[in-house]
Amino acid sequence: MEKTRIQSDIMDILSSPSLKKEDIVPILKMGSKKEMEALQSLAMEVKREKVGRGVYFRGLVEFSNVCRKNCFYCGLRKDNKKVSRFRLSEEEILNTAAFAHENRYGSLVLQSGENQSKEHIDFICRIVKRIKSQYNLGITLSCGEQSEDTYRRFFRNGAHRYLLRVETSSRELYGKWHPDDGKHRFETRLDCLRSLKNIGFQLGSGSMVGVPYQTYEDIAGDILFLRDMEVDMMGIGPFIEHSGTPFYRSEAYSIPREERLNVTLRMIAVLRILLKDVNIASTTALQVLDKFGREKGLMFGANVIMPNLTPTIRRKDYLLYEDKPCLEEDAFHCNSCLSARIACVGDTIGYGEWGDPLHFFRRINRSSPLWL
Ligand code: SAH
Ligand code: SF4
Repeated sequence: MEKTRIQSDIMDILSSPSLKKEDIVPILKMGSKKEMEALQSLAMEVKREKVGRGVYFRGLVEFSNVCRKNCFYCGLRKDNKKVSRFRLSEEEILNTAAFAHENRYGSLVLQSGENQSKEHIDFICRIVKRIKSQYNLGITLSCGEQSEDTYRRFFRNGAHRYLLRVETSSRELYGKWHPDDGKHRFETRLDCLRSLKNIGFQLGSGSMVGVPYQTYEDIAGDILFLRDMEVDMMGIGPFIEHSGTPFYRSEAYSIPREERLNVTLRMIAVLRILLKDVNIASTTALQVLDKFGREKGLMFGANVIMPNLTPTIRRKDYLLYEDKPCLEEDAFHCNSCLSARIACVGDTIGYGEWGDPLHFFRRINRSSPLWL
């Protein structure tokens, strides 16, 4: 494809070996229609060339909202006493796995609040083992910070991907977004990411866009962090306020709510162009800010969608943020709605495939030939 002037400029910047935060900031600010279109078609071109047209479904099961943490931005934080806490039963979770299997989703994401009790860890190991032996789905866990031993147990029982967003790559900002109580340490977050990678997980991470105190430069730093950490799968989403948190009605925004969707889309595009063969999720939070937010995510380079399989009666108790879409829908409805949405942007669904990120195999082959 013939490149426009804007596209050539973007490519020059992003292919520089000495790429710096300051170089990325102007791309994150490209707000005109012409610039957005240029970025979008460039990202789409790289996506088609490096990972193809397939969009992978990961059935998302929000299986427990019990959480020991108090992140200032999240509706599930421990001190939000209005939340009715739950954990799905093994049978309820297995039913969602059966649905995923029947509908030829390759993979399942099991997500929960952070709970380090032995009982909870044993529960996760049991459920992963059962899903693996009955349905052989790819399993991603997203259950927060755990000890290296615990991560190893998850891996041995059959989970092969883990999602742990760094939230922000700035230590200083991390300190402003979390209480200083010894339970929310930036160093611990980094140690967890390193452990997951060492154990052999396909590593998922990411960040939020538009949280109080965050600047464009911080977001550019997140992009470089994900590159340097060699993350295989990215989950990037706009921050959405929740009234049960200290960050509700904060005065400290530098990226107002109406700009967060477009900044997130531009960040997805930059990640696709820069990192090429990673998996990038088009997150549900995008759809809060725009009815077609998730389709737009796909058009700016994302290639993973996470249809919600959480039983409808529990969805309203798993509000990380407010205005979450599809609270009244069921898995069946979400499935057909998302299939139609993918078709309308010209992508195809990778039915029955685990959809592992190509980036992972490239990384493993390079760093450890013994894996072959
Ligand atoms: N407890 C686990 C997984 C559940 S939270 C963990 O924290 O890793 C999953 C993600 O939801 C978090 O990583 C965070 O990036 C996102 N999140 C939390 N509150 C949010 C908000 N108000 N707006 C947008 N995303 C939010
Ligand atoms: Fe708990 Fe995760 Fe929410 Fe933090 S972001 S309060 S760890 S559920």
